[in-house]
Amino acid sequence: MSELERLENNSEVQINLCSPTVAASETSQILDTLSTKEIVSAVPRERQELLKWNGWGYKDSKFTVTSKDGPLTNDSAILKFVGNRYPIGDTELPYFKQWVIDTFNLDLANKKSAQPMPSSYPAPVVCNEFSEKIKKLNILYSDSGEDRLIRAHGQTLYDIHTLREGTFPRIPDLIVWPRCHADVVQIVKLAHAHDVAVIPFGGGTSVSGSITCPKNEARPIVIVDTSQMNRMLWLDKENMVVCFESGIFGQDLERELKKLGLTVGHEPDSYEFSTLGGWVATRASGMKKNVYGNIEDLVVRVKMVTCKGVLERNCSAPRVSIGPDFNQIILGSEGTLGVVTEVVLKVRKLPAMKLYGSLIFPMFDNGVKCLREIAEYRLQPASIRLIDNDQFIFGQSLKPQANFFHSIIDGMKKAYVTKIKRFDVKRMCVATLVFEGEEEAVKRQEKQINIIAKKYGGLPAGATNGERGYLLTFVIAYIRVSKSFLFH
Ligand SMILES: Cc1cc2nc3c(=O)[nH]c(=O)nc-3n(C[C@H](O)[C@H](O)[C@H](O)COP(=O)(O)OP(=O)(O)OC[C@H]3O[C@@H](n4cnc5c(N)ncnc54)[C@H](O)[C@@H]3O)c2cc1C
Repeated sequence: MSELERLENNSEVQINLCSPTVAASETSQILDTLSTKEIVSAVPRERQELLKWNGWGYKDSKFTVTSKDGPLTNDSAILKFVGNRYPIGDTELPYFKQWVIDTFNLDLANKKSAQPMPSSYPAPVVCNEFSEKIKKLNILYSDSGEDRLIRAHGQTLYDIHTLREGTFPRIPDLIVWPRCHADVVQIVKLAHAHDVAVIPFGGGTSVSGSITCPKNEARPIVIVDTSQMNRMLWLDKENMVVCFESGIFGQDLERELKKLGLTVGHEPDSYEFSTLGGWVATRASGMKKNVYGNIEDLVVRVKMVTCKGVLERNCSAPRVSIGPDFNQIILGSEGTLGVVTEVVLKVRKLPAMKLYGSLIFPMFDNGVKCLREIAEYRLQPASIRLIDNDQFIFGQSLKPQANFFHSIIDGMKKAYVTKIKRFDVKRMCVATLVFEGEEEAVKRQEKQINIIAKKYGGLPAGATNGERGYLLTFVIAYIRVSKSFLFH
């Protein structure tokens, strides 16, 4: 009987997808291991204590509009991003206000309030036997309407619009918080036995609709929230691989590794609030993929609980030539095949040098040609992003300073760019750069890129601009482009 047939026929089976030359238990004995480490997450189990229940990100970080004096009008309005977590915190943003008014033809006096958190919720579809057994197993659970609503959606504009102005046709019936792989095995086994639908939930930052409950699902729907499974299980410094439970948030994972002088280097724009399991299930891509790779390049092996058994490859070799790679089927499976519980990832030493940079081009076309040539020579730094003129103007508008051009370029004056170099502000564009690596390599790469940029009329525009552009990525997620709910 083949391994797959065994999986089909036996719900208890643990299949070993790569004949192990060294079994996992033996492996841990011979390697430089760090024993299991509990991690205090930046995001509490009751997410709504810290995060918005009806939008993106931290509750204390948002765009606000208030009146300088008298009634709120476009003239009297003061637009701010409040909170001090991001580089544009708590200062007036006059240019952004104008950009918003012009771009969306917005009358700030007509600002519409989002609906409050509902006071009643649809009755859950209950499976008493399932719930009773979950209680007996001592697994954390909740059937509160608030907990169910918060995990009924991802973070698409449609999701946010529905939260603020509408209702979801179906929300999950029960939330469970497994604490480890064994809990997930029990939950999935019970769900299978009682015909309960399971949706794995990591950070809830999905933009594919895959955690949204199907409208006509008649079975009870249970959300398996992985956030309490966030331990570092082991670290193998010799082979530079680490094993985490799948519910760890990106920011927790990198913070803990940094303490050890290590990094995975996977940084999707959502990494503050998305989880390792979510990255695997969505085949996520990170901003620094040029150096570190995307999640499929970082994953060594995955443990996944399916309704037919546990899928696991027991050897930790970074690559094997035996048979198909089942990681590739799990990656991007969006929770349809099972719940990922543990992931082994490649780690690297923290780079000796991190350098931000930016380049200005007279036109978008010049920027495209420059980036193409950089790619042809395989010279891409950890992150390189070309921003068109609309995005450039938008990025500049987020600057708090009175002078629109202030500090765009280290020491460079608007006059130099627009008069001497004759760049047209309405056509120019910018590339932001992040270099990571050994100092000499980083400097060499920067120099080579500047030489290529010059061929296409590009000018180095300084580190401050580059750093700001990179970090603003995290702020931009707080902007939702609808005039009805932009600023609440
Ligand atoms: C502002 C913003 C920026 C973003 N930037 C990026 C980006 O730069 N790169 C990128 O690739 N994506 C990006 N995304 C999309 C999203 O963040 C990613 O898809 C992320 O990987 C989802 O992780 P999550 O933990 O939030 O998963 P969730 O949203 O909770 O779930 C996503 C899917 O994975 C499944 N899933 C979650 N955990 C598990 C598990 N343990 N086992 C099995 N299935 C599981 C869910 O069932 C669902 O199908 C962005 C989204 C937003 C809103």
